[in-house]
Amino acid sequence: MPSPNILFIMADDHAAKAIGCYGHGLNRTPHIDRIANEGLRLDRCYVSNSICTPSRASILTGTYNHVNGVMTLADHFDNRLPHVAKHLRAAGWQTALFGKWHLGEGPTHQPTGFDAWSVVPGQGLYFDPVFHEPGGVVQRPGYVTDIVTDLSIEWLRQRDRDRPFFLMCHHKAPHRSWENHPRHDGLYTEEIRIPETFDDDYRHRAAAAAAARMRVAVDMTYLDLGLVQPEGGREVGEPLLPGSCVRKLPVVADVRDVQALRFTCIRTGEVFRFETKEQYDRFKFQRYMQRYLRTIAAIDEGVGRLLDELDAQGLAENTVVIYTSDQGFFLGEHGWYDKRFMYEQSFQMPFVLRHPAAVRAGSVCDAMVSNVDFAPTFLELAGQRIPSYMQGHSIVPLLRGERPADWPDIAYHRYWMHRDEFHNAYAHYGIRDARYKLIHWYNQGLGLAGTLPGGEAAEWEFFDCERDPLELINCFGDPAYASEVARMTRRLDEKMAEIGDVPMHAVGVC
Ligand code: CA
Repeated sequence: MPSPNILFIMADDHAAKAIGCYGHGLNRTPHIDRIANEGLRLDRCYVSNSICTPSRASILTGTYNHVNGVMTLADHFDNRLPHVAKHLRAAGWQTALFGKWHLGEGPTHQPTGFDAWSVVPGQGLYFDPVFHEPGGVVQRPGYVTDIVTDLSIEWLRQRDRDRPFFLMCHHKAPHRSWENHPRHDGLYTEEIRIPETFDDDYRHRAAAAAAARMRVAVDMTYLDLGLVQPEGGREVGEPLLPGSCVRKLPVVADVRDVQALRFTCIRTGEVFRFETKEQYDRFKFQRYMQRYLRTIAAIDEGVGRLLDELDAQGLAENTVVIYTSDQGFFLGEHGWYDKRFMYEQSFQMPFVLRHPAAVRAGSVCDAMVSNVDFAPTFLELAGQRIPSYMQGHSIVPLLRGERPADWPDIAYHRYWMHRDEFHNAYAHYGIRDARYKLIHWYNQGLGLAGTLPGGEAAEWEFFDCERDPLELINCFGDPAYASEVARMTRRLDEKMAEIGDVPMHAVGVC
């Protein structure tokens, strides 16, 4: 068998719940589902830091963020560091990257290790986006998801067909502000079921949950909802900076701002009227979900076009196709949008993989997998040595249907930012195993860029994810869980020592 090609398709902020094959019934993604149906679905793939830029650094390097230096959104990747595309390129693979990079711009942060690349600066724009590429800056007319797919297919057609390829197709969607293509305006007009924790009061949880400013009903902006800002809207932050790494939010879509509950769609001019605040809050959720899911429809179409291209070129059998996202996302659970937290919806990454030459169709795996495992996996798939600096484990045994006896049984997460201006999400770290989740909110800023000083008391959370899958009851102080809490705390200490991360709690007291 010749060396396999690798097609890595990654979306931005795509929750597993919004992929058909994960079984939630929220939307339709037949082409992404096809990858799983003809290959494998991971049910416990977790991000090591639930935010865009750090996750991408971990995926490229196979290292945790305290090692690769990209701990917050304000940190940029030092493009002199080794990463998986550089290793594959040195081994003879053709390498390319199209779409969202979000690891910085300029000579020391732009992509390196790729034969071809064209990336949107920062978050990029949905319509008529600007791209940075080796030759300079170019604006491309059209819809960003379609353009990224087009660039990927064009590159597949002009590549050297005598050598294997590694193609990273990185969609900007479905990242905020969820601007769908007009061809999808008619999708998801039926009412979407509101999550049972949408009205969470955050009792029995650490203070961080109630403090977060990520509530659909309270914190969304008019831009998020695609609505014209009413006269008298309350200004916060600075004007939106297109393509900036940290978005400045112009207004808060709070009913307190307006005299009449009457809103107009920015793009179509459609007018929405409401009698009560409760109606408006429910409308926000429905509109959020409609816009989010419609942007995913364009991604799914693009995945279908890429799979068709592999078929047309006779590459399907020996090309590893992966679809994933840089983290998960809250779709109204706990009342939230966004990510950042180690709670399940933002911690879990969707991950489906097809490789007909080696992976049995319809496989499902619930082994613990982390985004630091991706780079070592790509290298083993390519028959290359895994460098010692990489901290993840190749999942190739899992792809064969094997689970080594010493396979990791926990996943680690650390969110380094603390109380950023727009989400007020608290820093934390923790682990989860197949049943339990331990989180430490250390509540101290570390002087990192993009963080604010802390000062509140540290807190712990412990969830029994089997008995409490919605993560509503913190059992850390419950005597019934004392032995499990002690065991998981020891596991956390061991994991931090193993990967060289610095604890903020007193180690060895349990
Ligand atoms: Ca993201």
